Amino acid sequence: MTIQRPNSEQLYDEALQHIVGGVNSPSRSYKAVGGGAPVFMKRGEGAYFWDVDDNRYIDYLAAYGPIITGHAHPHITEAIVRAAQNGTLYGTPTELEIVLARMLKQAIPSLDKVRFVNSGTEAVMTTIRVARAYTKRSKIIKFAGCYHGHSDLVLVAAGSGPSTLGIPDSAGVPASIANEVITVPFNDLAALKAALDRWGDDTAAVMVEPIVGNFGMVMPHEGFLEGLCSLTREAGALVIYDEVISAFRFHYGAAQTYAAFPDRQAIEPDLTALGKIIGGGLPIGAYGGRRAIMEQVAPLGPAYQAGTMAGNPASISAGIACLELLQEPGIYDRMDALAAKLAAGLQAAAKQNGIPLTINQIRGSFSAHFCDHPITNYEESQDTDGELFGKFFKLMLDQGINLAPSKYEAWFMTTAHTEADIDATINAANYAFSRL
Ligand code: PMP
Repeated sequence: MTIQRPNSEQLYDEALQHIVGGVNSPSRSYKAVGGGAPVFMKRGEGAYFWDVDDNRYIDYLAAYGPIITGHAHPHITEAIVRAAQNGTLYGTPTELEIVLARMLKQAIPSLDKVRFVNSGTEAVMTTIRVARAYTKRSKIIKFAGCYHGHSDLVLVAAGSGPSTLGIPDSAGVPASIANEVITVPFNDLAALKAALDRWGDDTAAVMVEPIVGNFGMVMPHEGFLEGLCSLTREAGALVIYDEVISAFRFHYGAAQTYAAFPDRQAIEPDLTALGKIIGGGLPIGAYGGRRAIMEQVAPLGPAYQAGTMAGNPASISAGIACLELLQEPGIYDRMDALAAKLAAGLQAAAKQNGIPLTINQIRGSFSAHFCDHPITNYEESQDTDGELFGKFFKLMLDQGINLAPSKYEAWFMTTAHTEADIDATINAANYAFSRL
């Protein structure tokens, strides 16, 4: 079965005339997977969506993470409609914001205070500003291949989206800003120590995805986060966790409260950036952390951050509804089991067809890399067969399986996927591997 997409192709031609690259986020383009018109979607429900040619796809993109309960979940839709019927924006505080803030604080105890913003980019950008205000230092240390949104300060060696298009160091970021960012390899404490030995006195913060989602799904080595936190604190700098992908992805909580890290205190960050799942599919971001640091933020302190749309009732309501759904007992175990079944099926199908494949599974998500070595850092993730991935991506798409068009991005399970979806996906992968 090969799917035809004439309407998507026509819309793409039109979009190209009006929207730069035809897409409103470069990661949606198919440039890195051999080009062509991206699929234009019309409707989603559960684990599926339908394109403008009425083809159905099983979706593992989950909109790059937020759609963990599947498309158009009635509980979330109802919450959004209710919010919209009461007016979409007031420019005043609402009680809803307190409800979601409380839910976040309960699940992630390092958050003494939070502030809602509109995207992960804003959340990360502001944690950096706050860290600089608090420490009165300017430099930031980050890890190669970790993506932290598109603000100037973190578009250096910047993972998935930019790396997919071959522009990890964006044009338009002044050297004066890029010089404030030091990049070291993930999972390499010696490199972090060397950077802190040299620049520690000027370093405001060390920023990390505590479980990486942007050069594949990558766990920190045992002791890495503990070492990162203690080295950073010895240097008088702050630890910032970017949990925009990881929060509520693996369990009801964040990476910093995940059972894989039993000594929670040893890995607790000073500041955390959030986004994606906490908005239930509507635009959102949030940042938070220790009280004394957060009180640097206006109106209490001198670090300015604001937002006309911040905390809007629809996004907050969708977030509350999504987190309510995720409290159902066993819901994460189910996603974990489906991901394990799919990962095992992919691995077996690849082996049968003589295709090297490394899979990093973390609970209900995994990344699949065309290579025969482990993936523990960005360099190893770059050293995989992108051309083969591009062909695989298209073969899967043509059988109604939607993946991210990038060799660096994860496959995400939702609460809506079924065993039958997994079986169908393994069958499709078997065929795709046989054609590579
Ligand atoms: N941080 C991480 C870890 C991300 O994965 C992303 C988005 N993929 C961002 C920040 C930026 O979030 P947004 O796209 O909502 O600005």
